[in-house]
Amino acid sequence: MTDTAPTWHAPWRATVLTLFPEIFPGPLGLSLAGRALAGGLWALEAQDIRDSATDRHRSVDDTPAGGGPGMVLRADVLAAAIDAAATAPEVPRLLMSPRGRPLTQARVKELAAGSGALIVCGRFEGVDQRVIEARNLEEVSIGDYVLAGGEIAALALIDACVRLLPGVMGKMESGTEESFSAGLLEYPQYTRPQSFEGRPIPEILTSGDHAKVAAWRRAEAEALTRARRPDLWKRRPSPDATKNTTKG
Ligand code: SAM
Repeated sequence: MTDTAPTWHAPWRATVLTLFPEIFPGPLGLSLAGRALAGGLWALEAQDIRDSATDRHRSVDDTPAGGGPGMVLRADVLAAAIDAAATAPEVPRLLMSPRGRPLTQARVKELAAGSGALIVCGRFEGVDQRVIEARNLEEVSIGDYVLAGGEIAALALIDACVRLLPGVMGKMESGTEESFSAGLLEYPQYTRPQSFEGRPIPEILTSGDHAKVAAWRRAEAEALTRARRPDLWKRRPSPDATKNTTKG
């Protein structure tokens, strides 16, 4: 290899452990993510947890210790599936879980900047606590509600990461200047027609005055964030820290 040879980076890789591998790629096989997947900008591998079962019934779950409803994914089966996936030690191991830390755009950016993620999808009442500890799984929630399984949560997480990968979005600005990137929700967007059912596009947006447009958008973003997400509003970075990240 000469000094001038370009460095080859393996594509960002999502390795998903699930009882329903046929769910993948699902919606990730379409549109931007799908084209990027077909083009080799990222890779996806969905592995069946059941392949790591050892008994003749291929069982993956059992009743909860201490009693109670439902079933629990077995630690030994899930640990074997994680070990068989053999991802590199630096690849984050995530467990989709309503008890997890809520997923944020900041965490998504960190994950997208790495080489990929191993993502475990729970089912039933969840997974045996011992495998979470023994395999150092980071529990990640996509919201304060309970899904039937981790697959839809995994699809959401992968979608959020993949759209940030270089070459996936048409314009990289659309990734850096949207909701959450400056600690605010995005301002309202408009396009043609000029008037829709008697509602015109706000005049300032068609004025051609870029400074006024930027100020209007900033004010709208602040008003929306204050009204809808007081938690984000309280934590927002100072305007000086973000003034170069507002669309103009
Ligand atoms: N008994 C669990 C509890 O109360 O925390 C809920 C288990 S849920 C029916 C089955 C699986 O769906 C979970 O193990 C997890 O993988 C996934 N799941 C459900 N809600 C989720 C959420 N909000 N975020 C991420 N994953 C979720």
